[in-house]
Amino acid sequence: MCINTKSFAKIADHIVPNSLIIIDLDNTLFNYESRCAIQTDKLIEQTTDPELLNTLIPQINNLEGFGKLQLVTKWSESKIIYLTARTRSQQIATRIILSIYKIVYPVLYAGSIPKGEYLLNSYIKLDKFNKIIFVDDLDKNLESVLQIQAKIPVPIQTFKFT
Ligand SMILES: [Mg+2]
Repeated sequence: MCINTKSFAKIADHIVPNSLIIIDLDNTLFNYESRCAIQTDKLIEQTTDPELLNTLIPQINNLEGFGKLQLVTKWSESKIIYLTARTRSQQIATRIILSIYKIVYPVLYAGSIPKGEYLLNSYIKLDKFNKIIFVDDLDKNLESVLQIQAKIPVPIQTFKFT
C-alpha cells in the first residue's frame, strides 16, 4: 500500500535497520517544476554570479524533515540514494544543487527508463537490504517500482510525495 505524505520525518518512522531509501528529485526533494528543470540546470551550470545562482537553485521540500531522515538513516545503518528521471546531461547541475544543501548521496539517472526496471538492472544489490523505501511524486513511478516486488524478496514500501 502506498502512503501519501509531504513529510520526510514521517517516512523516517518507517526505516528499519539496513533499509535502502530511494528518493526522487524533481517535485519530491526539489521544489522544482520539471518542465523548467532542464533550462534552469543549464543556467546553474553556466553562471559565475553567486547572486544569480541563489535565485536559480531550487528550494528543498521539507528540509527539516529530511534532516531527521538523514539522522535515522545513519543510526539504522541504512542507505539513501536518489533515483531521478533526469539524464546524465544534468549531472553537473544536480551535483551543484545537492552540494549547496549538503545532501549529497549517490544519484541514479534513469532518464526515460521506467524506475522499477532501472533499479532491477542497476549496480545496487537490492536483496542485501532488509527493506526498500521508495519516495516519488508520480503514480507511474510508484507503480513501476511496486511491480518489481514479485522479483525480489525484500519488502518495498512506497510513499507518494504530495
Ligand atoms: Mg518527480
